[in-house]
Amino acid sequence: RHPGSSGQGDPRPPESSGQVRGALVVLAGPTAVGKGTVAAHIRAHHPEVLLSVSATTRKPRPGEVEAVNYYFVDDAEFDRMIEHSEFLEWATVHNASRYGTPKAPIIAALERGRSVLLEIDIQGARQVRQAFPEARLVFLLPPTWDELVRRLVGRGTEDAEERERRLATARVELAAQDEFDYRVVNSDVETAAQEVVHLMPAAHS
Ligand code: 5GP
Repeated sequence: RHPGSSGQGDPRPPESSGQVRGALVVLAGPTAVGKGTVAAHIRAHHPEVLLSVSATTRKPRPGEVEAVNYYFVDDAEFDRMIEHSEFLEWATVHNASRYGTPKAPIIAALERGRSVLLEIDIQGARQVRQAFPEARLVFLLPPTWDELVRRLVGRGTEDAEERERRLATARVELAAQDEFDYRVVNSDVETAAQEVVHLMPAAHS
């Protein structure tokens, strides 16, 4: 639903001026900072925002659902999507799997006035900035480094070796925060989600 058709008391006529365009907001930040949790909160509470679904060559984790969490594809299909310029950006993340943002649904949503949220890594955020300079780049920060380590260990989805690799990447990534337009500290999911949503025209009205 775009803002003009939400039926939730938005007083503006649908696209009357033709100038209401959604915002493209990129949520990036180090591993385990809670990007996925903040994005899930926005999906649950702000259905007017399109949460982009990435394609990945990683295998699904227990509980993950095709076309909701990701489009799970093999290497050949990912190669095909690159060749056909279907991605707004793509990257190899944590030296392992490839992840990419399908372009077409995003363009369509923005043209209809719907805001779009991308939850991607920092390499991807940099590519979006190049391809789409008006995008709003948000860097999600942990309250402290120790809290980041605690969250990564606590979720228990990576083994010790993979955790070390991700923490090493996180140290490098934290140094990139100044490249971003906005910084949001994720002490509390709901507050962080609200701050992100407030960057989107009409999404919070
Ligand atoms: P996970 O495997 O834990 O779901 O995601 C690993 C990392 O890949 C996270 O930092 C996530 O933000 C990032 N990621 C997910 N989708 C994309 C995407 O489409 N492009 C890029 N560049 N990174 C992505």
